[in-house]
Amino acid sequence: MRCRLCGAEAAEFVSGGAGYGECPVCGYIGVEPSRLPSPEAEEARYRLHRNSRSDSRYVSWILEFVEAVEPYLRPGGELLDFGSGPEPVPAALLRERGYPVLAYDPFFAPGDDWRSRAWDAVLVHEVAEHLAEPGAALAELAALLRPGGALCVRTRFPPRDREAFARWRYRMDSTHVGFFRPESFAWLSARLGLRAALVEPPDRAVLVRPA
Ligand SMILES: [Zn+2]
Repeated sequence: MRCRLCGAEAAEFVSGGAGYGECPVCGYIGVEPSRLPSPEAEEARYRLHRNSRSDSRYVSWILEFVEAVEPYLRPGGELLDFGSGPEPVPAALLRERGYPVLAYDPFFAPGDDWRSRAWDAVLVHEVAEHLAEPGAALAELAALLRPGGALCVRTRFPPRDREAFARWRYRMDSTHVGFFRPESFAWLSARLGLRAALVEPPDRAVLVRPA
């Protein structure tokens, strides 16, 4: 199986009855290609997500990420919320903090305007684990960063132990098709000419374009 982050040959294994490939180069773990969901199945699953501003636990969980990445944001900088979902709570919270934010989502906020612009930061909040071709998608986003710009990613790092991985609930969401390790972000930074400014368990990474 090809690693969809770096293109190397991944080592195949089975966990909980499902096939995966673990990359010896970048550490990314991808589901076998036959388990990549159709766009229709993906959209149906996302519509079941209930991520609302009225859910205070959800909002504090988002705030925790916003506060972790804010030191890497230029005050008032222009942000892209890539894969914003049905209710873009991170975008709303960042707007309140004075950042102009464009929310893009292939299903819920489609359009191509974001591709022809440069950004001070791109948020990839609980999105990277859904990307069918993460290497290509993250390279495209990194190329849109202004000097000093930040790629801010939230995605849960998988347990290293195989038995813990088999029991890991995050793995069981049918739209979660790949998992990043801290070393995946180190590899990605080197590949994209970025600096890994923050890589912190359980789920966050900030990669910065040198000024
Ligand atoms: Zn790889």
